[in-house]
Amino acid sequence: MLRLDQVTAGYDGVPVVGPITLDVTAGGVTVLLGANGAGKTTTLDAAAGLIPVMSGSIEFDGRPVTRLSAPRRARAGMCYALEGHRIFPEMTVQENLRLAASGQRRASRAVWDECFELFPILAERGEQRAGLLSGGEQQMLALGRALLGDPKVLILDEPSLGLAPKIIDQVYGAIRRLTGSGRTILLSEQNVGHALEIATSVNILERGSLAFTGPPDRLRDDDRLKAAYLG
Ligand code: ATP
Repeated sequence: MLRLDQVTAGYDGVPVVGPITLDVTAGGVTVLLGANGAGKTTTLDAAAGLIPVMSGSIEFDGRPVTRLSAPRRARAGMCYALEGHRIFPEMTVQENLRLAASGQRRASRAVWDECFELFPILAERGEQRAGLLSGGEQQMLALGRALLGDPKVLILDEPSLGLAPKIIDQVYGAIRRLTGSGRTILLSEQNVGHALEIATSVNILERGSLAFTGPPDRLRDDDRLKAAYLG
């Protein structure tokens, strides 16, 4: 579905990630783990086209997208929800959703229904200003907005960042429901526990290089990684 092949990416001509090869399988949850500064955001930015790759190639949905701009990748079905909450706080929940649904990939009735089924709170709070939602509800709104782009792959950068443990449970509950409905997800996390519960494939970045790629169960076979990431 999405493949980064020997990709190197960085800033001002200095690579911070790579070369890495990363496969995102259709219908699965591919998790990218790593400490602060390991290069998770850089990898996702390169996948979504926010920064150019320095070498290597990216293929999405059977065609090369390495040189496509971020908006064109979005149009092709890649939706990227950035770290933190990507919403408009002064607008109502409904306005936030309508704006997301009016993009290049217009949301069908079915996608609207899916959105409200997954996140009923967004229907209940439709008239409320988005900035007044709790942190978890804002994250649900960000996910709802991403979903209304009807993505073939949903890319989420640290969806638990800055949220209280109880709210992280809610947000992961919502992501789990998204995966249950067959969406393909690529997400980065420092919050290993939650991410591993839903992962179908795990990639661990250490200082810009992949230290592990495989199913979550195999992580337990490596004593060093087990100690470092599973505690
Ligand atoms: P975090 O969990 O803290 O967000 P991360 O794994 O997502 O970390 P990146 O944000 O990809 O890591 O950062 C990887 C490296 O690239 C870091 O050393 C960071 O300082 C550097 N970096 C990130 N953004 C830029 C930028 N715009 N210009 C220059 N260097 C950057």
